Amino acid sequence: MLLQNPVLPIQLLETDETIQAGVRLHLLRLDLTDETVSGNKWFKLKYNLQHALEKSYSSVLSFGGAYSNHIHALAKAGALLGIKTVGVIRGEPEYADNPTLKDAKAWGMELCFVNRQEYRQRHDSEYLGTLKARFSNPLIVPEGGSNKFAVQGAREIITPEIRAKVNPDQIVLACGTGGTLAGVALSVPDIPVLGIPVLKKADFLFSDIENLMTESGADLTDNWDLDLEGHGGGYAKVSNDLIAFMDFMLKEHQLPLDQIYTAKMLSHLLKRIERGDYAEGSTILAIHTGGLQGARSLG
Ligand SMILES: *Cc1c(COP(=O)(O)O)cnc(C)c1O
Repeated sequence: MLLQNPVLPIQLLETDETIQAGVRLHLLRLDLTDETVSGNKWFKLKYNLQHALEKSYSSVLSFGGAYSNHIHALAKAGALLGIKTVGVIRGEPEYADNPTLKDAKAWGMELCFVNRQEYRQRHDSEYLGTLKARFSNPLIVPEGGSNKFAVQGAREIITPEIRAKVNPDQIVLACGTGGTLAGVALSVPDIPVLGIPVLKKADFLFSDIENLMTESGADLTDNWDLDLEGHGGGYAKVSNDLIAFMDFMLKEHQLPLDQIYTAKMLSHLLKRIERGDYAEGSTILAIHTGGLQGARSLG
C-alpha cells in the first residue's frame, strides 16, 4: 500500500463515572492522526484510493455537507497521493470560504455546489451517470465513504497489538453510516462491539450494516449491537450540555472532541457506565474517530 496505517495512541480516561463503577475506559485516539488524514475517514478511504490508482480512474468524486469530515479527508488524501478529487457539496458557493472547504480547495479538490433537491439524487444511477459524463468518469464514492472498500479499511483499525494491549470486554464507537462499525466488528468477531448512532431513529442501520458486511464479501457476525439512545436530539443537534461536556473533557482530560460524533458517543458511554451497564472490573475500548476539523464550525 501507498500509505502506511498510522500508529494509534491509547489513552486511559479516568472520570468520576469510571472510578465509581470500577471500569477501565481506554480511548483509541484516531484524532491524533489528523496530520495525515483525519480519523476513521483515512481507513475508509484507503482502499477506495488504491482502487482508483490501480484502475487508473481520472479522479475520485464524492458527496458531503459543508463541514464534512469525509470531504476534508478525501481532499487531503487525494493531494498526498496525487489523485484528482471532486467534491459535490450540498449548499451555496458562499460556503467555499469555511475552514473545511478552504482546506479542500487548497489541496486541489474541485468543488461543485448543488442545492438540496439535486443533492437528494446522490444515490440515483441516472444522476450518477451525468456526473460521470461531466467529470470524465471518476470513481464515485458514496457520501460518508461507506462501501466495501471502506469496510475493508476499517478492519485495520483494531490491530492485534491494540487487542493484546487493552484486551477489551467491549469496543464502543459513534456511527453515522455504520461503515466503520461494520469493519471493526468483522475484525474482532469474538469481542462485542457497540455502535452509538448520532442520528435519530437509526434502526435502519441494522440492515445497512449487514449489507455493508455482505458487500465486502464477509460473512455476517453477531458480535455487534446499536444503542439508539445516544443521538442527543438528532444529527448535528448541539445542546449547551454537550458543549459544556466538550469543554470539561478538554480542560480536565486534555481530550478534544467533536460535537457531531465523538462528544455524543463519549457522553452517552459515560452515562451507560454511571447507570451500571458494565460490571465492575470490565474494560472498554472507545474509539475516538476524529472529526476535529469539523468542530471548527463552532467558531
Ligand atoms: C464519519 C464519522 C463517523 C461515522 O463513521 P461511519 O462509518 O459513517 O459510521 C464517526 N466519527 C467521525 C468523527 C466521523 O467523521
